[in-house]
Amino acid sequence: MSGAAGVPILMYHSVRDDAPPETAPLAVSPGAFRDQMAVLEDRGFTPLPLSAVEAGVEAVKPVVITFDDGYADLHSRALPILTDFGFPATVFVTTGWLDDAGPDAAGRPLDAMLTWAHVAEVTAHGIEVGAHSHSHPQLDQLRDGPLHDELTRSRLSLEDRLQLPVTTMAYPYGYSSERVRRFAADAGYSSGYAVANDVAADVSGFAIPRLTVQRTTSLETFAKIVEGEHPFRKEKALTKGYALVRRSRYACGKVLRRES
Ligand SMILES: [Zn+2]
Repeated sequence: MSGAAGVPILMYHSVRDDAPPETAPLAVSPGAFRDQMAVLEDRGFTPLPLSAVEAGVEAVKPVVITFDDGYADLHSRALPILTDFGFPATVFVTTGWLDDAGPDAAGRPLDAMLTWAHVAEVTAHGIEVGAHSHSHPQLDQLRDGPLHDELTRSRLSLEDRLQLPVTTMAYPYGYSSERVRRFAADAGYSSGYAVANDVAADVSGFAIPRLTVQRTTSLETFAKIVEGEHPFRKEKALTKGYALVRRSRYACGKVLRRES
């Protein structure tokens, strides 16, 4: 299934101030995140769930908002802002990093992470869930057995705990080899998301590019990124013939504003 052409897929990590050194470069302040969402609204973008874009749903200036790893501030900081705007998003969860992973804990979380209850709660408020491996290894460095385990364990535990199908994944560190992509398909995923700082010309397959938003991304640069004018975007003609559809809203009522 081929998705809509020229869809910017934004990649966030953390939305917080005072992030630890490991995540600080990719931690966008809540104020900047709110300003960025306002840019999307003011410029007439339509944030869509990944599943809608993958299914070929067309919209005026579609954009996808994604978060990697599953930091606690997705629930405490980003979700209330997304809810204010009525924007859907997707989180790619590293299952072994979750705060209450318990005996399944694996790898080394870089900051406070979501709990399973948080993950369930965000899914009830317009956030889709994809996998991001179990322990966040460099997948291409793994032998076949551990690679298969990383890919399947994260998907199956998410599906088991959330009772939702999980068909998408994002590669830790944004990188995949041809072998990793083949294993991802074998592990039951239908798509894989990378980091290539390019607009996705075709939202299908296992090397779908995303655009990095980081702490130093100014509002002006953010606007250029989503409009496809940023220098890191390769020269590609964007298809402008989007069918007009009624703007989708995914507002979901009141969200408890909790500190993590
Ligand atoms: Zn990650």
